[in-house]
Amino acid sequence: MIPYGRQAINQEDVAAVLAVLQSDFLTQGPQVPLFEQSVARFVGAEFAVAVNSATSALHLACLALELGEGDWLWTVPNTFVASANCGLYCGAQVDFVDIDPQTYTLCTKQLAEKLAWAESHNRLPKVVVPVHFAGQSCDMRAIHQLSQRYGFKIVEDASHAIGGRYLGEPIGNCRYSDITVFSFHPVKIITTAEGGLATTQNADLAQKMQLLRSHGISRDPQRMTQPSEGAWYYQQLALGYNYRMTELQAALGVSQMQRLEAFVQRRHLLCQAYDQLLADLPLQLPFQSPQSHSALHLYPVLLKEHDRATIFAQLRDRGIGVNVHYIPVHLQPYYQKMGFQAGDFPNAEDYYQRTISLPMYQGLTDEDQHLVVQVLRELLR
Ligand SMILES: *Cc1c(COP(=O)(O)O)cnc(C)c1O
Repeated sequence: MIPYGRQAINQEDVAAVLAVLQSDFLTQGPQVPLFEQSVARFVGAEFAVAVNSATSALHLACLALELGEGDWLWTVPNTFVASANCGLYCGAQVDFVDIDPQTYTLCTKQLAEKLAWAESHNRLPKVVVPVHFAGQSCDMRAIHQLSQRYGFKIVEDASHAIGGRYLGEPIGNCRYSDITVFSFHPVKIITTAEGGLATTQNADLAQKMQLLRSHGISRDPQRMTQPSEGAWYYQQLALGYNYRMTELQAALGVSQMQRLEAFVQRRHLLCQAYDQLLADLPLQLPFQSPQSHSALHLYPVLLKEHDRATIFAQLRDRGIGVNVHYIPVHLQPYYQKMGFQAGDFPNAEDYYQRTISLPMYQGLTDEDQHLVVQVLRELLR
């Protein structure tokens, strides 16, 4: 089976992980800070906080922004459940803004309309989580302008988007947001097996996330409520978690970062090839915004005439490991119990009915890509 996404591990990655395995530190050693520096430098952020998943990073980001009971978090329905769940973890309520049918990302026109409505109903969000779906940046400048007017904070869910750019600058530099979150799950652009990371330009937010990822415990005498009692001494200053990334994961991350640009370049070649090879088929191919240089995590095609379930099953039968991104979050039973209904976000629902994610990863060979195209062509004929 040709998968829809897959990690690319080479000998350097293996050697980096093995070296850590034989070193003094399996956790809480030098590799995590090295990985953080590597990502921070690459994206042009002052601070980076590595954790054990993007889900944890989203949770810490919301906590650092003091999201809590009585607050609202808004995101899009066309995302993984974690983009919304982080609000619920904090005791906040979650609502959604529909996607733009061309970019499949947050529709800023609908965001503006919903904010105007929310203002008059005293229901403005405290945090908005735009999702850079498939690796393509949302219209961050417009979202940032709205945040200035309505006073909400912005957490970019860039789980798909490390290595991508927006208006010529790297995603993750937080020019138009408070915090940006990346995922390093093996299907994403680079991997640490499991892992995530939050970037920010704000020292206070970084410090809060650092504290909360490790039990809320600090060894910094400056932060303690009384003089340190000795070298063993630490204080718990907040209710934190164990969301730490291991040294093995961070070493893999440092090694993978060296190939990030090559990975994204290869994805662009694959995208160009798909665009050409599929142009004459009854499919809507993914739009690439001129404002954005996508990291191309996904290559979702929309069927125009055919039944999605049928084509999907036939592709899988023929060894093409396609997938679907995403079942709209508000249609999940857990969210339906909160009162969301089918029909609430028609663009995300219509998109979901027709989409199939074709194989897209740096290790996909030209031969395998041609096989994907050939099978799809036969099925759509
Ligand atoms: C993968 C993903 C997440 C969660 O990432 P983990 O590292 O697996 O926790 C969150 N949001 C989006 C959009 C994702 O694709």
